Amino acid sequence: MRLRNIPGSRETIAESPFVVSNPAEHRGKWRELFGNSNPLYIEIGMGKGRFLTDSAALYPDVNFLGIEMYSSVLIRAVQKAEETENFPQNILFIREDAVRLPELFSRGEADRIFLNFSDPWPKERHAKRRLTSDRFLRKYEMILSGGGSVYFKTDNEDLFDFSLESMRDCGWTLDRVSRDLHSDAVLMRDNVMTEYEERFSSAGHAIFFLTAHPPAGRKN
Ligand code: SAM
Repeated sequence: MRLRNIPGSRETIAESPFVVSNPAEHRGKWRELFGNSNPLYIEIGMGKGRFLTDSAALYPDVNFLGIEMYSSVLIRAVQKAEETENFPQNILFIREDAVRLPELFSRGEADRIFLNFSDPWPKERHAKRRLTSDRFLRKYEMILSGGGSVYFKTDNEDLFDFSLESMRDCGWTLDRVSRDLHSDAVLMRDNVMTEYEERFSSAGHAIFFLTAHPPAGRKN
């Protein structure tokens, strides 16, 4: 979902009260910024932000942080936030590449990481860019709290199979796995739709879902 060259997007993002422009300065102090000691949930690759906004409204006692690497995408979430009356107070955005996670969060600072419809990077030579590759799993392991876990949804079966294997190889424990989330009434009770999920499920695609925690963590 890379929308290119939206004039003024960087400036709008820099001025928005919903965007943290110097995230590394808040490393280890994110709860201070939110002004409470609530759990911190992060979505990596938040796109236009529907999942985060709906989640923040449903769970006011959780701090939600959206990470998106492209200004041209983040601007959509920012515009939506600025147009929405009573936009949830427990949500902030940052424009960053997830490779920098350990520079942005201290050890154990995040309680949950959501990966929703992450880019599949189908070519083998790009495998390390996949957000469930071992390179990223090691970063998640550094910043997740003891009971913390990753929640992952995709419509891409190859990426899902790759992710299962990658997690097993890295010693992660798979807590929940579904190859058809929308047919599982129990899992669907807590499901919050994303923009991509709406699009793909409406087109008849199965939605794959897993939750998993790293070796040192406890089951969430
Ligand atoms: N999560 C949204 C949804 O489900 O509707 C958007 C999914 S979109 C396919 C994936 C998003 O992840 C894109 O907006 C992309 O820019 C972002 N992204 C990909 N790699 C990233 C990274 N390393 N760090 C931050 N964002 C990333």
